[in-house]
Amino acid sequence: MATKEKIMSAAKQFINYINKTPSPFHAVDELKQKLLKAGFKELRETEHWDIKPLNKYFVTRNQSSIIAFAVGGRYLPGNGFSIVGAHTDSPCLKVKPISGKVSCGYCQVGVECYGGGIWGTWFDRDLTVGGRVLVKNGDKIEHRLVHVQRPILRIPHLAIHLQREMNEKFSPNKETHLCPVLATCVQTKLHGIEKPEDTNTPSILQSEKHTPSLVILLCEELSIQTENLLDFELCLADTQPAALGGIFEEFIFAPRLDNLLNAYTATLGLIESCDASLESDTNIRMTCLFDNEEVGSQSAQGAGSSLQELVLRRLSTSTSNSTAYEESIPKSYMLSADQAHAIHPNYSEKHEANHQPGFHKGIVIKFNANQRYATTAITTAILREIARKVDVPIQDFVVRNDSPCGSTIGPIMSAKLGIPTIDIGAPQLSMHSIREMGCTSSVQQAIDLYRGFFQHYPQVFESLNF
Ligand SMILES: [Zn+2]
Repeated sequence: MATKEKIMSAAKQFINYINKTPSPFHAVDELKQKLLKAGFKELRETEHWDIKPLNKYFVTRNQSSIIAFAVGGRYLPGNGFSIVGAHTDSPCLKVKPISGKVSCGYCQVGVECYGGGIWGTWFDRDLTVGGRVLVKNGDKIEHRLVHVQRPILRIPHLAIHLQREMNEKFSPNKETHLCPVLATCVQTKLHGIEKPEDTNTPSILQSEKHTPSLVILLCEELSIQTENLLDFELCLADTQPAALGGIFEEFIFAPRLDNLLNAYTATLGLIESCDASLESDTNIRMTCLFDNEEVGSQSAQGAGSSLQELVLRRLSTSTSNSTAYEESIPKSYMLSADQAHAIHPNYSEKHEANHQPGFHKGIVIKFNANQRYATTAITTAILREIARKVDVPIQDFVVRNDSPCGSTIGPIMSAKLGIPTIDIGAPQLSMHSIREMGCTSSVQQAIDLYRGFFQHYPQVFESLNF
């Protein structure tokens, strides 16, 4: 079991990561930096790969999905893949392609709902934007990240005096009531920010798609001229930093725990696993972190895309064995890591009596007979064996028969690839709120479990006697 200092230090480092990652692009970029620091080399899908045992690599798609892997010293095409999968996206509001709005003397920003957020939690928060910007630099187009560090937006609640029934019933209209305020028109005019004069330079400012003050702020943040800003993809995010909480600092109050907790801990688990044990490993150790899980994974960079299969096929290519890829699949295993629902003290009737995962009680295995989760008795037995070896407690979860059930990348990827898969995750509350709640011990438990999985899976697989 990890010491208290180690648990708190892991939780704090995770909080630092969350505070730097308001969008999937930031989530991937921060992990990329960690991988580079740990000696992983960047590959490109467009190039030929020359993969060598004991070397470590990663590849990204759309800058929002990333697959990283370390090649075991005894790896041969046809051997298995030890995979931890998670997602990089979270429900949020995204700036619309034409976002400039003026209403009743306010400049507002049109936003689109991404995924199944608890949108009521976005009211009265001090919001900002973070995401990617496409910048023209000479004859090149660059991909840059931006994260404005101050509260520039707000979706104000309507006063209770004007809606007396609000505590009984609050159901905001997602189009009309969720539109954030950026400025007043009066201040905008006082600052001399008006529609630009017609020039021959086509620019995003010129197109009048967005409120000029927002475009100007983004350009200042990036130190670029407005005519060089080609386009952007921006997520709204809370400016309140993630924090340790509870009287004993045992909780994590943070946005995007679902699912950056697993994207982060999977990457750390992979990096930490690469010690002397990699030399005798027959497998490739891999993390695959996908965008667009919150909207069904059906995108070029989602878990439903070709990305995972193309990477596995490249790594299984062999001149001497034409069925190496097919042979590798049943030897592989995927941990589909996504957050789980902890028992809620005020809504305990929502959990079935025998399946009530709690904080500090370990990582949760998620079961669903209707295959909303990919877990089987075999994949469970394998994971329990690994968890026992690395001393990480495990809990079991199944949803009530009269309750809806979430899903994950697990069923999508296991159906597509045929890889034995288990669905697991750390317990949390407030899932899909702008500010979720988890527990500090989950971070180190997840890192220990993923590192242990990479180090022990091939040996546990070998022990299967059927
Ligand atoms: Zn999730």
